Amino acid sequence: MTFVSTNPFDDDKLHEECGIFGIYGTPDAAAHTALGLHALQHRGQEASGIVSYDGTRFNSHRAMGHVGANFGQPKVIQGLPGDAAIGHNRYSTSGDTVLRNVQPIYADLAFGGIAVAHNGNLTNAYAVRSRLVKSGSIFQSTMDTEVITHLIARSEKHHVVDRIVDALKQVEGAYSLVCLTAKKLIGLRDPTGVRPLVLGHLKGAWILASETCALDIIGAEFVRDVEPGELIVIDESGLNSHKPFPPTASRFCIFEYIYFSRPDSIVEGHSVYNARKRIGAELARENGVDADVVIPVPDSGVPAAIGYAAEAKIPFELGIIRNHYIGRTFIEPTDQIRHLGVKLKHNANRVHIEGKRVILVDDSIVRGTTSTKIIEMVREAGAREVHMRIASPPTTHSCFYGVDTPERSKLLAAIHDLEAMRTYIKADSLAFVSMDGLYRAMGQKGRDAAKPQFCDACFSGDYPIPLTDETGGQTSRSVQLSLLAETA
Ligand code: 5GP
Ligand code: MG
Repeated sequence: MTFVSTNPFDDDKLHEECGIFGIYGTPDAAAHTALGLHALQHRGQEASGIVSYDGTRFNSHRAMGHVGANFGQPKVIQGLPGDAAIGHNRYSTSGDTVLRNVQPIYADLAFGGIAVAHNGNLTNAYAVRSRLVKSGSIFQSTMDTEVITHLIARSEKHHVVDRIVDALKQVEGAYSLVCLTAKKLIGLRDPTGVRPLVLGHLKGAWILASETCALDIIGAEFVRDVEPGELIVIDESGLNSHKPFPPTASRFCIFEYIYFSRPDSIVEGHSVYNARKRIGAELARENGVDADVVIPVPDSGVPAAIGYAAEAKIPFELGIIRNHYIGRTFIEPTDQIRHLGVKLKHNANRVHIEGKRVILVDDSIVRGTTSTKIIEMVREAGAREVHMRIASPPTTHSCFYGVDTPERSKLLAAIHDLEAMRTYIKADSLAFVSMDGLYRAMGQKGRDAAKPQFCDACFSGDYPIPLTDETGGQTSRSVQLSLLAETA
């Protein structure tokens, strides 16, 4: 047994973007949940879990690894009987990957059991946790989500829904949640609506999921987005919607459109695929360059490159081929491995590169690792010129609302101007879509600085929800907790 000194809310480590799913009213609840999680695998590849309720008790299976590996065996699904279930995919770059940090988290409370799955990140979790620990709470994990179950446990309200609302009024941050009790499936989005959550229906069963692609996989019908600040309760009496929070301007995460959501999902009325194509077209209008071929950095750059090529009237070719048997580069923890990861992942398709003036399109530059490696590879394959075009504005700020971005000092655009970035990645030219161009692609006139439609903090530094832990100096490195190291 070893003790490690680390902090539970390290901004370069434990932030995670996740996928959540819940279903109520079908005998194969866990099997449907496993399929839904499989469709949401892109939102989290580190671990997955399902909790079901069978009328008598809760059943749980949580494991490190992909959904297929964890839930592919019939006997695992048979061990999760019941008509209601929730599930979670976890994504994290954390070294501290232990089973106790895998969701859904489950707690036996005075009123009965509750399982919770969370997508997002709480920005005052450390402050709340410290307060609770001082007054005797014993935490079992290092997850921000656990503060929610503690607050639900301590609430003096009588009904579970009121307890949940009571708990959430004490937390700040971004959250889409699905909760399962013996009688209810509950789903909700934070008042700012940063993270997605949709409602679906399948032959009498109600479904809550991060994205519509999780409805498609089980043939469910997409009913609508859960609204920002909306709490949905599904039980024997059907579906009821509540608006327990004071109205707030909603600010959906624009990075969901740029990168995170699956292209076949429909998010808040926009097809993710078409949004990416429109961003690519804006990029071409704003930052055109004479070239022979437009090549996407697969897979994330593909729709934007299609939009760019069509607008610029330059041929589109798959000049880089991706090996699909390796996960996303970001999940590798060290810089060295991250570099290696990029090489393992992509190869130049020389016939479409040699002797050509190439426009490369990717969705974003974070640390600059991918662009640097890809440009080197494309030059080695004989490109005459390499023009890098990025379908988002420069990522200058970290996300504290649940997307895994490194700390600010590691963001290429936070520490370099455009020319210095171009030199760093060794491109002949480099351009990003403008903030107004991005908003135009989302159907707006441009970014309305007084009332921005989206959360674009990673590009603007305009954080719509207070960063209490950050500004309170409570970031990870300044505070050390002793945590029990476990192997999973
Ligand atoms: P970089 O290599 O510059 O650090 O990161 C840029 C690449 O990472 C892009 O190809 C982009 O598709 C991808 N990317 C951007 N944001 C994220 C993220 O939050 N998670 C993961 N896994 N990849 C990301
Ligand atoms: Mg990418």
